[in-house]
Amino acid sequence: MLSDRVETIVVDGLGLAQELRGQMAADVAGIIAQGGRAPCLAVVRVGEDPASVSYIKGKRRACNRIGMHSVEHVLPADTPENDLLDLIAKLNQDEAIDGILVQLPLPRPLRANAVAAAIDPDKDVDGVGPLNAGRLLMGDAGLFACTPLGILEILDRHEIPLEGAHAVVLGRSMIVGKPISLLLQRRNATVTMCHSRTQGLAALCRSADVLVAAVGIPHLVKGEWIKPGAAVIDVGATRVDGEPVGDVDFQAAQGIAGLITPHRRGVGPMTITMLLHNTLLAYRQRRRSHAEGRHVPETRA
Ligand code: NAP
Repeated sequence: MLSDRVETIVVDGLGLAQELRGQMAADVAGIIAQGGRAPCLAVVRVGEDPASVSYIKGKRRACNRIGMHSVEHVLPADTPENDLLDLIAKLNQDEAIDGILVQLPLPRPLRANAVAAAIDPDKDVDGVGPLNAGRLLMGDAGLFACTPLGILEILDRHEIPLEGAHAVVLGRSMIVGKPISLLLQRRNATVTMCHSRTQGLAALCRSADVLVAAVGIPHLVKGEWIKPGAAVIDVGATRVDGEPVGDVDFQAAQGIAGLITPHRRGVGPMTITMLLHNTLLAYRQRRRSHAEGRHVPETRA
């Protein structure tokens, strides 16, 4: 009897991340060998959220491993917004700092949008500020959100056709859903962006050639929601009993999806890799614009 099961490729996000980080380490070594200084990322944490502490540790470790510098500023959870904005203004002015990342979520009542807007757009390596979001919307070059850039890299490395494909994105956050929808649209995919009020989610998912799940509901996407052969990117990382769980039922997707990212060693390592990439890009752009006395934004996407 013929089986209609497809062979599912499980993405090795960690392997791809290591390859790209190796190339960046060589680039940084080259900069230093030519007498330049190492690019430097400034990370700002407000409060003691354990997940934020752990994410920042991972990001700084990744920076240091490829020869970049990183500095961390820790502020108490009850920091007034003006104090945080003052720190960002100092980092904006600091010539030794190439990238600024304020770890989200911020404790209430701090306003993430106001903080993002305060970061110099040329140092906005998380792509969260309004200028870079606008550049993405307008099809211009800029520094774009790291997780979407990592997703695009995964799809490209696996030669997933995007032009004319139907891409369904679950979630409309500013850090994943919206920017990946725009990036896929820039690559001529036809994009459906879904959210908590979307009707008929299962049928929409079943029509997707490329399905990106960025919701935060464990195993929301069932095996029967997946079109045979589709590329499935699982961004979700919800902690259940201390373990991260994805938005897609990974086991059920086996034999149906053409490609899938695992919830461990999938999208996560690529997100950090794209942060390093953006920091290096910001460093190079700032050096070039200093040399030329003008600003020319570049982009990966
Ligand atoms: P978020 O800000 O938490 O928002 C979740 C989105 O999902 C919202 O747009 C929401 O719709 C939508 N949603 C909620 N219930 C839904 C449903 N039943 N059907 C369809 N959409 C629904 O999103 P996020 O910050 O992008 O995070 C999403 C997940 O990705 C989380 O688990 C997060 O931890 C993970 N994440 C992982 C990485 C990584 O590198 N691995 C990076 C970033 C995020 P509304 O807009 O209508 O509320």
